[in-house]
Amino acid sequence: MPDVEPQAAPPVNLLDTVAKHRCPICRYVYDQAVGAPAEGFPAGTAWADIPDNWCCPDCGVREKIDFEPVR
Ligand SMILES: [Zn+2]
Repeated sequence: MPDVEPQAAPPVNLLDTVAKHRCPICRYVYDQAVGAPAEGFPAGTAWADIPDNWCCPDCGVREKIDFEPVR
């Protein structure tokens, strides 16, 4: 039996995550590549880094957990 080293868990790759999420109410789309600079999230901010209590900047009705992944 060859001595196989255990594989380290692969790093979280942005390409493996859903890069866009859409507000179900107003159709605002948060795109990781664009971010939400007006909200304090520069381009490239991962969805995972957005706080759960972040509200939709367009309608202010829905929070992050309500956003739908866009595939
Ligand atoms: Zn909205």
